[in-house]
Amino acid sequence: MKRILLAQILHEANSFARTQAPIAHFHRQGVFLGEAARERFSQTRTEMAGFLEAAAREDWHTTIPIVVPCAPAGPMSMEAFTYFRDTLLDGLRAAMPLDGVLLALHGANVVDGEDDPDGAVAQAVRDAVGPDLPIVITLDPHSNVSDRLAAAVNGITAYRTHPHTDHKETGLRAAAILSRILAGEISPRVHLARGRQMRGFDAARTTLPDGPARRAQAIARRMEQEPGVVEVSIQAGFVLADVWQVGPSVAVTGEGPRCGELARELMRFAWDERENDTVKMISVAEALAQARAVPPGPLPIVMSDFGDAPGGGGYGDATAMLRALMDDPFPNTLFLSIADAGSVEKAAAAGVGATVQLSLGGHTAPLHGGGPVEAAFEVLKIVDGKFTHEGPYTPGMIGNFGQSVLLRHGEVRVVATTFQRNIVDLQQVKMFGIDPRACGLIAIKCMDAFRAAFTPIARAVIAFESGGVSSRVQTTLEWTKARRPIWPLDPLPEVEAALAAEAVA
Ligand SMILES: [Zn+2]
Repeated sequence: MKRILLAQILHEANSFARTQAPIAHFHRQGVFLGEAARERFSQTRTEMAGFLEAAAREDWHTTIPIVVPCAPAGPMSMEAFTYFRDTLLDGLRAAMPLDGVLLALHGANVVDGEDDPDGAVAQAVRDAVGPDLPIVITLDPHSNVSDRLAAAVNGITAYRTHPHTDHKETGLRAAAILSRILAGEISPRVHLARGRQMRGFDAARTTLPDGPARRAQAIARRMEQEPGVVEVSIQAGFVLADVWQVGPSVAVTGEGPRCGELARELMRFAWDERENDTVKMISVAEALAQARAVPPGPLPIVMSDFGDAPGGGGYGDATAMLRALMDDPFPNTLFLSIADAGSVEKAAAAGVGATVQLSLGGHTAPLHGGGPVEAAFEVLKIVDGKFTHEGPYTPGMIGNFGQSVLLRHGEVRVVATTFQRNIVDLQQVKMFGIDPRACGLIAIKCMDAFRAAFTPIARAVIAFESGGVSSRVQTTLEWTKARRPIWPLDPLPEVEAALAAEAVA
């Protein structure tokens, strides 16, 4: 019986966020050790569920030292990183001798004091198991893959959908690669290509049938038919990280000289398509004008703020859209959500039915997305904030807003929560006793992941930017560590000259 180590440490860090993610941030959403992880994740559709299903089929003996689910925020604290890494390594040493390792990493972690924590974890695992033991990893396509990460492992496969609905399939793919290595069929390494661009592949969006991400995935599948190629993994990059390796990459897992060529070929596609962003960003005012032009009908208009998206490290308390909706209300509006522990506490203390004067949201960075909204709100509902995803985004996963309240000001109902959280699942609406289909307008905070659940119930979907810290306007951020020259920060001729020099090298 083969002995396989399974582990997961997922964090997407917005390095521009001024708030760190301490260990308590991760404990809030749950950190799972040993058998608790097995129990919790076998019933989900996560990569860990994929690992476990494959292990049962292959009759592997598995050990799971740690599972850290993804809860994007600012940089992970060094204390949290050290604890996660060492728990993984302690579990690994205790489980030796091993035949293989499957790791679920994000690829966009940044630690306060370590710019490449995913590479550091993979390298530490490699150092512990020696050069010959196979290690295969899964990634989120919103990842900035370092050379160290690619060199430390034998295989990389990232989710192929965005919104990500194939976590489990990705886990199964990684396990299948490991299984073929263990059977002696293949002996791959990872061939990584990275361009000189901060974003590409349309941010990995696969919602449009003929968008750049779908076309790139189709090319990748064709490339996988070539001899020696096992897996062509596309990473669109995570642009809100000031790290050297920021930007898209292609990782070809396989053997032979074609692997590197194919990786570079797909990066050329990314370069040619770099301007092809299928979601155009508009301001709060433009978004509201568009919403008012939508013909009346059943189902809500769904508007999402790209600029204050907790899934991209946004603080989740920007108020620009809330204020605009309160000033000029739409009938039957739901705003979801404002992370403001102080206001939640005050409203909860006042109780259901009370009216409270609040200074709601906008406390973290008033210049980015709007300062506090001073107004009276009626308290409609108080909940503990725990919910279980119904999917299609990671069904079975438990999320936690902390204590939360549903408030009302005129036509606008507002959810205020203790912790910020991306809005991706209809349970996040239903938990407040609201039928999302019955709303006139739902304004949420999320980049793209909401589309899996919300597009099917929406009369229209409108994306906008409030100016928060997950904004797509990278040129206004202060970059100190990204490799230069790079698009779109530097003049095009300089970037093209650097690309040409690298193509020759
Ligand atoms: Zn992602």
